[in-house]
Amino acid sequence: MTASAGSAALPIRPELAGFEPYGAPQIDVPVVLNVNENPYPPSETVVAAIAAAAAQAARGLNRYPERDALGLRADLAAYLTGDTGVPLAAEQVWAANGSNEVMLHLLQAFGGPGRTALSFAPTYSMYPEYARDTSTAWVAGRRADDFTLDPAAAVALITQHQPSVVLLASPNNPTGTALPLEVVEAVYQASPGIVVVDEAYGEFRRAGVLSAVQLLAGRPRLAVSRTMSKAFAMAGGRVGYLAADPALVDALRIVRLPYHLSSITQAVARAALAHAPELLARVAELRTTRDQLAVDLAQRGHQVAESDANFVLFGRFADRHAVWQGLLDRGVLIREVGPDGWLRVSVGTPAETAAFGDALAEVTAGGRP
Ligand code: PMP
Repeated sequence: MTASAGSAALPIRPELAGFEPYGAPQIDVPVVLNVNENPYPPSETVVAAIAAAAAQAARGLNRYPERDALGLRADLAAYLTGDTGVPLAAEQVWAANGSNEVMLHLLQAFGGPGRTALSFAPTYSMYPEYARDTSTAWVAGRRADDFTLDPAAAVALITQHQPSVVLLASPNNPTGTALPLEVVEAVYQASPGIVVVDEAYGEFRRAGVLSAVQLLAGRPRLAVSRTMSKAFAMAGGRVGYLAADPALVDALRIVRLPYHLSSITQAVARAALAHAPELLARVAELRTTRDQLAVDLAQRGHQVAESDANFVLFGRFADRHAVWQGLLDRGVLIREVGPDGWLRVSVGTPAETAAFGDALAEVTAGGRP
């Protein structure tokens, strides 16, 4: 039963009434390119290492897990230091069940009744849900037509609304747009509260595009969120994390549930991090496939948003649902998301990406729906 179906009889909070649970369709088709997963499963070597770590954790399952997950946070800090060149310690890193939970913790600690969270649409559709679920007012500004963010317009909106939390996705979902660090800096300077740069797709950024981790030093209200779900090919492991000033991390420790990261999750994530180079080995290939996909789509006459992520937003279609359905009928699942007329496709293996291209050519043959 959905929340909306049951809400008439149950005393659900009014702001939740009529809502459906968030989530893309999970449909079993040959080519799944709808939730920006990494198409490559772990190798048997990594599977064996994860299984051994899980077995070891299982031997202690009568005990609660390490509550502060300091070992995992130290490993994540070391990984992020390697990715960005910025030295980070465990105390500057927070971890939770996916970056969704990391950001919910941020809203629980820094949002709330009488407070405002702000972002710029089109952007990740969970942001307004974090706000709703924490009784935080929600303000969505607009990105420019090319999905970039004009710093002056951003600063003006922030000055007007004085948000406690600003959420900036970079690279942005569903558009793929990365923000120059000058824009993040301008937003930070204008903001009275926390600025979160959501770098869920950070590892896919093109050469020369910098991570906001570079800006952390001397900015105690800045948090940079990452995930193991995308580049790391660990979406099923549910591990997200952020880097920030230790005092900001300590504030998140107040709102987390005790033992929020299970022993199994911590063990699996640490085993995966010990194999980071192998798990990340396909990132370069996925970037190349993405760039080629963008060129191919443009050559076929589609409009394509510049992407620093592992997906491409393309359009525009008078009837995007017909295109989405036509692809699904051919065994290719993509995402109907973003501004009207656009569709988003995740970067798959070269074979999956080619299958998508062939199916799209069939669907659009004889004129664009
Ligand atoms: N941020 C962005 C921009 C995303 O697109 C997603 C997932 N699609 C997330 C955060 C959350 O991912 P996870 O909870 O798996 O870390």
